[in-house]
Amino acid sequence: MRKRIIAGNWKMYKKAEEARSFMKELVDTVPASENVETVICPPSLYLYELAEMTKSSTVGIGAQTMHEAKEGAFTGEISPKMLTDIGVGYVILGHSERRQYFNETDEAVNRKVHAAFEYGLTPIVCVGETLEEREAGKTVDIVATQVKKAFEGIADSLAPTAVIAYEPIWAIGTGKTATAENANEVCGAIRNTISELYGKDVADALRIQYGGSVKPANIDELLSMEHIDGALVGGASLEAASFLKLIEAGS
Ligand code: PEP
Repeated sequence: MRKRIIAGNWKMYKKAEEARSFMKELVDTVPASENVETVICPPSLYLYELAEMTKSSTVGIGAQTMHEAKEGAFTGEISPKMLTDIGVGYVILGHSERRQYFNETDEAVNRKVHAAFEYGLTPIVCVGETLEEREAGKTVDIVATQVKKAFEGIADSLAPTAVIAYEPIWAIGTGKTATAENANEVCGAIRNTISELYGKDVADALRIQYGGSVKPANIDELLSMEHIDGALVGGASLEAASFLKLIEAGS
């Protein structure tokens, strides 16, 4: 059975003290669970402190993005080597906001997936279609292509340890959620794509999250679906109370 993974993406929100007190509450409250893995992806400024706070807890810490090089003259960037060094375990790659505002291409995502694995990080690879693409009936083609490109050259032994987040762009931060059935259908298509690339065992092992206006009111239905193994959550991860409800739902 696949262990669920609920990850909060704080984006560019929270002051230091807010980040600290949220994490204290989480560390004190989240029980060790065999069913769900909990991850918080704070702004990079807080990664070190939050990774220290969660060292002996079951809460994992993830970066929201990273550079692909281990080090170098890349002003403003953070590297996979630095993330591993401070105890970060996950990294979100190819989030639609990175693709849209920072020109992150499928090729760059692929290089970053390689770099993440090289440094022992679990990549959370985001894929998803725009509203226009959905309306043109291209959803499955778009996400399958994004998955194939992201995983190009990734070894069979590493692929099942990655996480894929299916995030329809039109559902992110809009309050609109794909219906659970529809999200499941696309997550199933993603699993088929992984199966074509790596075979059924890898496809059965790899975890697929849904993301896009997930909240306590809709998480149960989403998690009841065959191919949805968790959630990548923006807005509802900013308040400890609502995020804790999501973890509870996954437990
Ligand atoms: C996200 O940022 O990945 C996301 C899904 O945001 P929200 O939950 O706010 O739609």
